[in-house]
Amino acid sequence: MERYDVAVIGGGPAGYVAAIRCAQLGMRTACIDDWRRKDRPSLGGTCLNVGCIPSKALLDSSEKFELIGELKDHGITVSGKSLDLGAMMARKEAVVDRLTSGIALLFRKYKVDSLPGLGRLIGRDGEFWKLAAGAEELQARRIILATGSVPRPLPSLPFDGERVVDSEGALSFASVPPRLTVVGAGVVGLELGSVWRRLGSQVTVLEAMGEFLPAADRDLAKEALRRFSEQGLDIQLGVEVQSAEPAGDSLRLRYRAVSDQELECDRIIVAVGRVPRTSGLGGDQLGLELDSRGFIKVDAQFRTNLPEVFAIGDVIGGPMLAHKAQEEGVALAERLAGQAGAVNYRAVPWVVYTEPELAWVGQSEQELRDRGHAVKVGRFPMSANGRALGSGEASGFVKVVADAATDRLLGVHIVSHDASELIAEAVSVMEFGGSSEDLGRTIHAHPTRSEALKEAALAVLKLGIHL
Ligand code: NAD
Repeated sequence: MERYDVAVIGGGPAGYVAAIRCAQLGMRTACIDDWRRKDRPSLGGTCLNVGCIPSKALLDSSEKFELIGELKDHGITVSGKSLDLGAMMARKEAVVDRLTSGIALLFRKYKVDSLPGLGRLIGRDGEFWKLAAGAEELQARRIILATGSVPRPLPSLPFDGERVVDSEGALSFASVPPRLTVVGAGVVGLELGSVWRRLGSQVTVLEAMGEFLPAADRDLAKEALRRFSEQGLDIQLGVEVQSAEPAGDSLRLRYRAVSDQELECDRIIVAVGRVPRTSGLGGDQLGLELDSRGFIKVDAQFRTNLPEVFAIGDVIGGPMLAHKAQEEGVALAERLAGQAGAVNYRAVPWVVYTEPELAWVGQSEQELRDRGHAVKVGRFPMSANGRALGSGEASGFVKVVADAATDRLLGVHIVSHDASELIAEAVSVMEFGGSSEDLGRTIHAHPTRSEALKEAALAVLKLGIHL
């Protein structure tokens, strides 16, 4: 039986990154993963196979499709456009193929043994854990559980894999559904709702909460709701979805808002969050402790209650973000090697890849004020940014929130084209404990959208030039 220093269960962003770093640090490492794509093992987990990567490929393709016909201002008229959805999907699949096989290549390079199959803990065997990878058995001194999460089902709208689908099904509709209902105005709902709206669907988004994007800064959420509504997303808040039943070729969806409502649609995407994936791991029999929501309980060093068993990524809760999971993978591997790996949870960027994109880091103005924290706020609209105006994508703004006394940067909130790229600078400044003045007095290339960050930071100190 093969013996390893570390066996990682799960080959998504948490697991594959942890495995690579463990191997780089000299540990004999195996990574067990049961994802299959086109009948072959496929590394990268949800993110690469059916999440971040394919959704961004479709977001980019659909954005280009929508843009044609909106170029008149640039003096460009295009006569006629048509959609080859099959080709668009094939391109997306090719991107996924390339990246998933890239992880396999990295595993070979760093000598991580990739073991396809379901990973399952069997029991202790002296200093070692005995575990299974599909039909194979192996031993490992330490175990890292990185099994991720799966879409949360809604009992009133069971997935049928065809007309009522989860985020994965929504990435591979065979045709553009004329009428699409999205349940849940979260990240998945807004991103995939945007993809299909751009490709021609009439999209209704039904959200249970009475507030739009409650985790975001209020100004950002307000602007986003305004823009998405202008684009034609029919976003209804405070809705209780009751049932869906076939009505000829369509589905009849019943829901309760102020009163009982019905709508007919062709497809439903249920995007109401994700739940940790712990079934089949063998944790029940071994007494692996979970919290009340089913996440694996860990301490600050990612230790579970079982000896030498650690857990990271979506399965331990916190933000379900690939980059947070990856950082946990690196931090844990370094700790296992006796180094001081750590994750700064105060500087985790959030991005919603709509158009405009939403991105933020740190705390919102309201969160801080509600806690009695005295803050100063600076803003800058993209409509006053030369590069944004030149490109024709000048909606949105940057908002910077800093401590009123020390000027330390506490939050940056962006609604803008390319906000996902712009936020990186704010994350760096926060990581270094910088101030709004640090950000504002840093030279930014002109003309770039990033100057809006500089100006918003200068506005905190009332030092702005261009507004
Ligand atoms: P989410 O938690 O972002 O949003 C789910 C939404 O569904 C919430 O607004 C919630 O109030 C609503 N909801 C819950 N129950 C409902 C019901 N019965 N009826 C109507 N609405 C209901 O979850 P998601 O959008 O499904 O995404 C899953 C996870 O994946 C999230 O944690 C998200 O952070 C992550 N993700 C991130 C990105 C990104 O970073 N860009 C992209 C996709 C997914």
